[in-house]
Order: sequence, then structure tokens, then C-alpha cells
Amino acid sequence: MNEHSNLQGSQSAEEIIALDKRHVWHPYTQHGIEVEPPVIARAKGASLFDADGREILDMISSWWTCTHGHAHPKINAALSRQADTLEHIMFAGFTHAPAVNLAKALSELLPGDLNRVFFTDDGSTAVETAIKVAYKSWFNRGQTRRTLIAFDGGYHGDTLGAMSVGRSSQMFGAFKDLMCDVRVVPYPATFEGDDAVEEREAGALSALEALLADHKQDIAAMIIEPMMQGAAGIRICRPSFLKRMVAMAREAKVLVIFDEVATGFGRTGKLFAMEHAEVTPDIVCLSKGLTGGYMALAATVVRDQLFDIFLGHDFDRALPHGHSFTGNPLACAVALASLGLYEEEQTMARIAQINAHHRTMLDVLAARTDVMRPRVLGSALAFDFGSDTQYQSEASLKLRAWYLANGLNIRPIGSTVYLMPPYCITDEELAHAYATMIEGMDRLA
Ligand code: PLP
Repeated sequence: MNEHSNLQGSQSAEEIIALDKRHVWHPYTQHGIEVEPPVIARAKGASLFDADGREILDMISSWWTCTHGHAHPKINAALSRQADTLEHIMFAGFTHAPAVNLAKALSELLPGDLNRVFFTDDGSTAVETAIKVAYKSWFNRGQTRRTLIAFDGGYHGDTLGAMSVGRSSQMFGAFKDLMCDVRVVPYPATFEGDDAVEEREAGALSALEALLADHKQDIAAMIIEPMMQGAAGIRICRPSFLKRMVAMAREAKVLVIFDEVATGFGRTGKLFAMEHAEVTPDIVCLSKGLTGGYMALAATVVRDQLFDIFLGHDFDRALPHGHSFTGNPLACAVALASLGLYEEEQTMARIAQINAHHRTMLDVLAARTDVMRPRVLGSALAFDFGSDTQYQSEASLKLRAWYLANGLNIRPIGSTVYLMPPYCITDEELAHAYATMIEGMDRLA
């Protein structure tokens, strides 16, 4: 063991790559064709540094997790303080200050009576928990409701329940026999200059209406990424649509799950995307930015009245669900430190400034004939470039490689190019990223 732990920090990039090639299986990676990944040695603010000290601007916040930037001194301090006190304790039959304080903070930040927090490890398990809570809440009420409503293009994670409510694509096709029963409604995504959004919204609402009319006794819940679908290619919907759709589900007594794994913690310009439409779901899933991107932690937060359905005097009514690292104290302490920064650093105001910079790019993008559907929401800027929409199209891989070689972590999703920088990014870094992003398009077009 010692031999292995001593190696850390003293290895060359070549040694690390050789070990990676021999022993590691990366996510979403075809190891037969992918080029060597850069070895990241350290990170600070919006920047990653490879083993040779070369800087790469993290323009997608490391899969949208890293909200305040890398290695924030206050989060570092909270982590090390907590490590000196209590690093882990099982969460069944025990409790601790970081978890209860985080649950209280989330309850206060979320609207309405979203007051009961179930901690899990990542976005997928937060969604998995939400689906099980919805299903079991009907079960406890003597009803079997096995159908879920989801939205076309949605992405909710890679575990079985989460995949079931996700898009049917090349990614999930091989697993389709394992999935739950799901009915899909169109997601009326919009963009700058869109003049047909109302028509698409009306189509989506009437599809939902028909589903609710025909199947409401079988439907356990409806799940949606509010305001913005992430992995579908940063597809933005209007608050009025969200509001109407929630009202329809409520009327049909169908539970509403908001997946705010990607949209939460400021990404869309509000702390939670649900605030744009002033609606409260029955269940909300949070992860990614919850710990400022530091640690794997997620929360499935439910309304008081939903939690009450699980109360009783026998275990049969309880939620039979949990994970070894549920409520890990290190992760909860880090999440509390991250939440504290929103006020201390006026983070929401900074997100508004990033949004204003993004908006200035809309004209530049609209002037190009090779750019389609430019769109901005909060700190996200996206557009479609080229016509090959496959997840790892040749064009998207080329662009990604060019950006990486030129100091930007930008990872197109099929034909969608997007930026979601950490909120600490400076104006100069943003300007540099825009210019390099455009240069890459010019060179590879
Ligand atoms: N839900 C949404 C909206 C996501 O964007 C993601 C991941 O991108 C997930 C769930 C799954 O999260 P994780 O990758 O942490 O399991």
C-alpha cells in the first residue's frame, strides 16, 4: 500500500497516462478512439493546470458542478476543519450538525413547504430516490401507480430509474428492456428570435392534457428539468409553460418532481430555476452545485405533507432506501460553506453580470450563418453549430480537441456548443473564452 500512496505527487504525466491506459475506465468514453486525456495536476478559480503547468479555462465548470470556481479558500478551510472533527458516520440511527444544518438551510432557501431532505450521493441517486418516494407514497395510500411522465430530450442520470425518464437515445437504447413505464411529452424549447414557441407550447400542453385524461390513475409523478434541459443541449423553456404544466399536473393530482441537479444553485440566474415561474414542486432533486462542485452529495427534498405519508408505527410505511455515504459530514460541511458564499460574495449579482456579457454575444452569434438557435439563460450560453447531432459527432470531437489544445474546456453536446463558466470567472477570462470559441468555429467550419 505504502508504495502506491507514496507515488502520488511524484509521478510524471507519462507515468500517469500509462497507468490510466492500463487500469482506468472513463465515463462516456470509447477507449478505442479517444485521444489521451490531459493530466490535471491542480486547479484554481476558473483555471485548470495540467502537469506541465499549461492553463485550461474550465468553461463548463467541470460538468456544471464547480459553481464558485476551483479551490476556494473558504470551502477548503471548511473541508479541512470538518476532516479534523468527524469525517464519516453512518446516517441510519445517527445524526450530526453538518447534515441537520444543511437540511435546515435548504428548507429555508427553497419555497413553500419543501422542508424534508433525504441526502444521497449524486444527481442520479437523487432522481432515483424521488421516483421511489413518489411510487411508495401512492403504495402507502393503497394505490399502484407505475407510470411516470417525462419530457422529450430530458436527462436525469444513468441509474435505471433515472435512465427510464431520460431521453431515448443512442446512450440508453441498449438498456431499454430494463426501464420503467414512462410516457413522454414534448419539451417546447425556445431560443432568441423564435417565433413559433407558442405553437410548440400548445402542442406540449395538449399532449400532457391527453395523457392526464387517459392515464391519471396510473401516473405516479411527472419529472422535468425546469427552465433548462442540460444534457439535451441546453434547451430552454419559458416560465409560463412551466407554470401551466404544473397547474395541470396538480389538477390531476399527479406529483411533480423538479430535477434541479443542473439548474440549481444559480445556474439559470435564480438560486433555483423554479423561482422563474414561481411554482413549487412536490419533490426537488439537487446535486452538482450543492457542494460547489467539491464532493459527491445530493439532496431529494420533499414537501411536509408527502413525508407525512411515510409516518406510522410499522417499518412497512417507511422509505426502504439509503446509501453508505448518505449525509456524509465532509460533504455537508462543504455544502454549507458553499451556500454561505452566495451572500458573502454576492454571487447572484455576479451571475447577472455574466448573463449580461453572454447577451452581448447573441448579436455576434446571430450574425453568423453557421450558428442556429442562440440562447442564453443565467450563466449558460448555447447555440447549435453544424448539422451532425450525434453525441460524439466527428465535428464535436474536433471542436473539443481544438478548444482543449487552445486552453479551453468546452465540450460540445452533439451539435450544441455551450459555455457554463464558474461564477468566479473574470471579465477578461470571459472575453478571452468568447474570442477563442469563435476562432475555433472559424478554423474548423
Ligand atoms: N439530472 C440532471 C438534470 C443532470 O444534468 C444530471 C447530470 O448531468 C443528472 C441528473 C445526473 O447526475 P449525476 O451525473 O451526478 O448522477
